[in-house]
Amino acid sequence: MNGDQRSPFKVSEPNTLKKTMNDKQETALDAMAGDGGYEEAYLGDHLRFKMKRDKKRFWAGDNISDYLHEGDKERLIDEATEAFELVLDRLLIDRENDPNSKGTARRLAKMYFNEIMAGRYEPAPDATAFPNDTQDRYEGMLVVRSELRSMCSHHHQPVVGVAYIGLLAAEKLIGLSKYTRIAQWCARRGTLQEELCNDIAREIERATGAKDLGVYIQATHGCCENRGIMAHSSLTQTTVLKGAFKDDAGTKKEFFDNIKMQQEFAPR
Ligand SMILES: [Zn+2]
Repeated sequence: MNGDQRSPFKVSEPNTLKKTMNDKQETALDAMAGDGGYEEAYLGDHLRFKMKRDKKRFWAGDNISDYLHEGDKERLIDEATEAFELVLDRLLIDRENDPNSKGTARRLAKMYFNEIMAGRYEPAPDATAFPNDTQDRYEGMLVVRSELRSMCSHHHQPVVGVAYIGLLAAEKLIGLSKYTRIAQWCARRGTLQEELCNDIAREIERATGAKDLGVYIQATHGCCENRGIMAHSSLTQTTVLKGAFKDDAGTKKEFFDNIKMQQEFAPR
């Protein structure tokens, strides 16, 4: 969180701006994004325009935790609740009398922020690295299998699968559970599986310093199973290979042999 991003949200603005904003929302909010805030605007709008101003990408798969401050998430959940209420109204669902739909708007808002898209709003998991530079340093290949839960950006349908993360140990090592924490932090956003594979590879590289690594993901997609083509048990596989995993046939084979052994040990 940079100092310049900590501009106060609640600053009263002259009434003229209020008027302008109602007439021409985008332009007025755009103007206000630079200098403080606007009392009645949504925090979500304020943050959106700040990111636009900074040319910060905020796609479904992007992490925007740098823009959130203490307490913001609660406020954003309130704002999203309001918006989900409107969606339910537009779907003609009686959220006032249907006991099962009563708290649904808030449940949805909380679920998006705290669970299925949590990886957009939370900073990267802390992955303390330990030196791997002694005489008896580990030099082999490490393959970690991580359970994944994600969702597609297109339909907000679940993507469920497993990522296999392989690397040749570099100068530092991170705790085994950290690989999965990083993978899940990348996954808990709206993504494409291809993008997710790239994201995990990049973040593992950042955390470990390893240049030789591979990420292989197998997943099923709710958007192919529950709608559209309605194809149950269709499986999508994606692979990202870097360094020796890409250039050295032996390393590549060892990685996929390891995956096979893992799958024989614990079929999913
Ligand atoms: Zn989809």
